[in-house]
Amino acid sequence: MSSINNYSFFAAVEKSFNKAAQFTHWDKGLLEQISACNAVYRIRFPLKKEDGTIEVIEAYRVQHSHHKTPCKGGIRFSTAVNQDEVMALAALMTYKCAIVNVPFGGAKGGIKIDPKKYTPYELEKITRRYTSELIKKNFIGPAVDVPAPDYGTGEREMAWILDTYTAMHSHDIDAAGCVTGKPVSQGGVRGRREATGLGVFYGIKEVCSMEDEMAKRGLTPGVEGKRVVIQGLGNVGYHTAKFFHEAGALIIGVAEYEGAIYKADGIDINELVNHRKSTGSILNFPGAENLENKKAALELDCDILIPAALENVINAENAPRIRAKIIGEAANGPITPEADEILLQKNVLIIPDIYLNAGGVTVSYFEWLKNLSHVRYGRLEKRFTENMNARILDEMEKLTGKRVEDGSRSLIKHGADEIDLVYSGLEETMISATREIMEQWKADPRIPDMRTAAYVVAINKVATTYSELGIFP
Ligand code: GLU
Repeated sequence: MSSINNYSFFAAVEKSFNKAAQFTHWDKGLLEQISACNAVYRIRFPLKKEDGTIEVIEAYRVQHSHHKTPCKGGIRFSTAVNQDEVMALAALMTYKCAIVNVPFGGAKGGIKIDPKKYTPYELEKITRRYTSELIKKNFIGPAVDVPAPDYGTGEREMAWILDTYTAMHSHDIDAAGCVTGKPVSQGGVRGRREATGLGVFYGIKEVCSMEDEMAKRGLTPGVEGKRVVIQGLGNVGYHTAKFFHEAGALIIGVAEYEGAIYKADGIDINELVNHRKSTGSILNFPGAENLENKKAALELDCDILIPAALENVINAENAPRIRAKIIGEAANGPITPEADEILLQKNVLIIPDIYLNAGGVTVSYFEWLKNLSHVRYGRLEKRFTENMNARILDEMEKLTGKRVEDGSRSLIKHGADEIDLVYSGLEETMISATREIMEQWKADPRIPDMRTAAYVVAINKVATTYSELGIFP
């Protein structure tokens, strides 16, 4: 069970899955296989701290689905980590990858620690030991299972994972593909750091361009001028806020663990980050009002509410007081199924996590492809780049069995910078995923909400793969 209110996050994911499964035609047993977690690895290992004391560390890696390999998903460092949570997050990865056509199975990892309570030296030891445990049981590798950053982890931890893996697989020429979200200087890809936030922005922007959906909520199309509230100013929340701010939206509210602030004419997000760096808090930001209760930020009158931290923050208790017209789930599982029902009654449009925050894994896929092709996108002299990139394109298509979309193809061909390539590939991915889900929703009047439509899309894709491959033995 997830530690928050003893709520089972995995059961919530299963509930959404089952709600959608009734709108598909797949065999009951196959549906059960799709929703079950294939492998759960629960680890305990000792850490010798800098002061000489020994502490037992609790950690997990869950591989939810092997319908495509490698499995893929981040590793989080948080005190809320438990088996139920990691299982739920791994399941969400399976559906997320399917929706955005990223050919991976879902996985997730977690270490139950508060990273702020350990020195960098201790964090490195924890990360390396965890990686070595995964190696021992074949739970990591470029063709097996590829971790990435998540809540509480980033490029630094991914570099430690890479180094540990490489040290133990010195003959593996593809070792760099064992983890994504690496520093650019270590085989990472430009744009990965902001990818999840950028994907959230592209996804919501596409929904906001749909006149009928906006009209149903008394809104005009477009993101410009929209009043946005962001909960969580970590990597995802910060970048989401930044892209909305740059597009002319007003960030009227921000919540973090130390409190929340409100400013009707919009918060400059970079100034807020500087203010937090110098004072240690988002509170007392010039021109903004401090909100006594940080949870009150979720209940502000706004057009778009973006929970970008942890699960279960909008539940049966506070859902009746939510005043947002659109909620974009940048976090995984921020709304419980009970809250989902309440918000649906209130005509709130919920843009679901299972595709909205897929920007991270989409760009991870670009990084993984880049590592396996051993060439950096768009670096070389133009003519050479064109030839080289044309070859990479062919390789990409062979590897994935899919055609690279025309927009990306022309950018790659003409030797565009890596960052342009990543941004355009991500934009195209988020726009087509949004349209596919909306079309699914409209095609079946029984489907009650966008989350269910997204699950139907995911289930159909995973089930198709299973039925084509058959069942071993
Ligand atoms: N942790 C991110 C997620 O939950 C990224 C996963 C990845 O890049 O593999 O989607």
